[in-house]
Amino acid sequence: MNQDQIKIPQATAKRLPLYYRFLKNLHASGKQRVSSKELSDAVKVDSATIRRDFSYFGALGKKGYGYNVNYLLTFFRKTLDQDEVSKVILIGVGNLGTAFLHYNFIKNNNTKIEMAFDADPKKAGTSVGDVPIYSMDELEERVNKSEIEVAILTVPAGPAQSITDRLVPLEIKGILNFTPARLNVPDTIRIHHIDLAVELQSLIYFLRHYGTEDVE
Ligand code: ATP
Repeated sequence: MNQDQIKIPQATAKRLPLYYRFLKNLHASGKQRVSSKELSDAVKVDSATIRRDFSYFGALGKKGYGYNVNYLLTFFRKTLDQDEVSKVILIGVGNLGTAFLHYNFIKNNNTKIEMAFDADPKKAGTSVGDVPIYSMDELEERVNKSEIEVAILTVPAGPAQSITDRLVPLEIKGILNFTPARLNVPDTIRIHHIDLAVELQSLIYFLRHYGTEDVE
């Protein structure tokens, strides 16, 4: 099957890294097949959803056999472009930004924070782990040279839009926005917005109103 022709729904696509991580561990432990029930218990996605997800890429589990781990892994590797490292920058090396720089993304997927930027002159010129921190004045020059695909924004909400406006002409394709600001970008850029305060509040709301029961 030609991988390029497969168009999978976004909700399915979002679960792929989760499946991929678990299957890699299974493969490493020598397992050759896995049932949707086993997968479901491990990744906490119900097995009907897993079967539907997998059917999109032609993995039809056999009754009593399950899924072939190698087939799935090959598919995931191609789909998630695991052979190619995506280059990422981070802007705003405060508490949250520093935590991301310490976190080793490359362990689970081929994503590497190449460099970070900060407006604070005390931070520019230092590094966190092996990630160098540069002054915001160097943003354009450094990004232009390095084929950066994604930017993680961990600055305060105030400067988020003006920083985004500087990223647009640099041909960044995606922004992971951890600021509470809603950003305006042209449709050549994809933004994923993660507001930790909202997520926490939402979890507490669901706990209060629904406990641990599933909500459709
Ligand atoms: P957080 O946990 O959100 O990182 P913090 O208290 O450590 O919080 P913030 O005030 O949120 O720090 O700022 C985050 C980082 O963003 C700081 O390192 C700050 O120097 C940097 N920063 C602030 N404004 C800008 C800007 N305009 N451009 C680049 N970096 C900025």
